[in-house]
Amino acid sequence: MRCRRLVVATGYFDHPNLLGVPGEDLPQVSHYFDDPHFSSGRDVVVIGGKNSAAEAALELFRAGARVTLVHRRAQLGETVKYWVKPDIENRIKAGEIAARFEAQVSRIEPDRVMITRGRQEEALPADRVYALTGYHPDFDLFRGLGIRLDEKTLRPECDPATLETNVPGVYMAGSITRGRAISEVFIENGRFDGEKIFAQNRA
Ligand SMILES: Cc1cc2nc3c(=O)[nH]c(=O)nc-3n(C[C@H](O)[C@H](O)[C@H](O)COP(=O)(O)OP(=O)(O)OC[C@H]3O[C@@H](n4cnc5c(N)ncnc54)[C@H](O)[C@@H]3O)c2cc1C
Repeated sequence: MRCRRLVVATGYFDHPNLLGVPGEDLPQVSHYFDDPHFSSGRDVVVIGGKNSAAEAALELFRAGARVTLVHRRAQLGETVKYWVKPDIENRIKAGEIAARFEAQVSRIEPDRVMITRGRQEEALPADRVYALTGYHPDFDLFRGLGIRLDEKTLRPECDPATLETNVPGVYMAGSITRGRAISEVFIENGRFDGEKIFAQNRA
């Protein structure tokens, strides 16, 4: 196809950040959240400590699942929405949602998730596992188009005023304009990218 401009706006949800542990490819493990009601009355482990994991844990709990949240850090992420944070923290305090902080998943088996905390190993019962550990853009796609990426941040070389990349005629829009820092762009600010790209045509 021939075009005057190519706008790449592929987001990041197609590429989950994998845990890289044995059992991650088992059928009961998902990197995407779905209907919580299928988990009613079942043991569910949610891995992660930011918005997706916190919201999934709450929805699963309210749908009647027995939920354990497993997070590698000592506390939930600072970016967890201000109305979600007290809800999840209070459910954990009340013991309604179990939580394991500073915990690493070592492997996933058909009916349990093995975690380690320090030297201690623990088996968490799990009929369903949600590994909600974030996503990343398809950086290989960008490199394949000839777009230069900053070595550390993987931010594309992109004019902030027009969003044209170092490849003439190739533009970027949305979350992928920030390299690894995908959370800097969301719906509220990313929606203005079209105006930047096409403003030159309006005159
Ligand atoms: C649970 C959750 C809650 C959120 N809540 C909010 C909120 O309240 N407010 C807010 O502002 N943001 C929110 N966000 C973030 C918001 O969804 C993202 O910031 C936003 O969708 C990013 O927009 P984008 O256009 O960069 O990418 P996307 O919206 O992901 O769009 C990318 C599109 O490109 C397509 N695509 C990918 N690869 C290819 C390819 N190779 N060829 C063709 N098509 C391709 C995808 O299928 C998709 O349709 C939330 C996200 C999640 C997960």
